Amino acid sequence: MTVDVAEALIELQSIDVEILRAEKRLEDLPEKRAILTTRTKMKETSAIREKAVLLERRLSSELKARQDEISSLTEKIAAEQAKVMATTDHRQIQALTREMDGLKRRVDKLEVESIQFMERIDKARAQIATVDNALEKLSQSEQDLIARYREVGGAIQTEISELRARRAVQAARVGEDLVSRYERIRDAKGGIGAGRLDGGSCTACHMSLPAERVRELESGPDIGVCPQCRRLIVVRTEST
Ligand SMILES: [Zn+2]
Repeated sequence: MTVDVAEALIELQSIDVEILRAEKRLEDLPEKRAILTTRTKMKETSAIREKAVLLERRLSSELKARQDEISSLTEKIAAEQAKVMATTDHRQIQALTREMDGLKRRVDKLEVESIQFMERIDKARAQIATVDNALEKLSQSEQDLIARYREVGGAIQTEISELRARRAVQAARVGEDLVSRYERIRDAKGGIGAGRLDGGSCTACHMSLPAERVRELESGPDIGVCPQCRRLIVVRTEST
């Protein structure tokens, strides 16, 4: 049985179109875009978290400085108080009392500031918690999207492998030289390297060919060149 090269070429072209479409489908999967969008959001959210963490750290260290100062002042006040108790010298008592009043005013001021810092720390921590919650949700949705992408994408990849196997059979029938000629034209002309002569028209460029050109093609080999688009054109197959 002779190999019908012309028919194999048409089949090869049609499989190539199917492969292109499947690859495009894989490329355009909505899950792919959604994964990228989710990752961008995660990045932005992480940056917000980073800022909140730094703020919380700074506020906590401000608070600690005040609390340390309060405890050292408290010790000082206690020491002065002890001195007051130990003396009966009126002038000394007055001086110590004045000093203690000054220290107490400083403690009061530090306590007011401490409360303000605590409130701001609470707010920063609440923001971190909110951001953590959002990050967890984003990460879960990323995982779901990846699983879905693998499922749908995997099916398309299987389809592409099957198409490639079918293509290899047809390519062997067409023969190496003609396949590379076809591929060169296909790659240069938007994925279509071969058409058929159908009712005086080329099925690749859809141009109606002049009657004289059609007669030339018909009196030539099974596979010619379209005078309009310069692609390979199958004039006839064994079954036509
Ligand atoms: Zn054409």
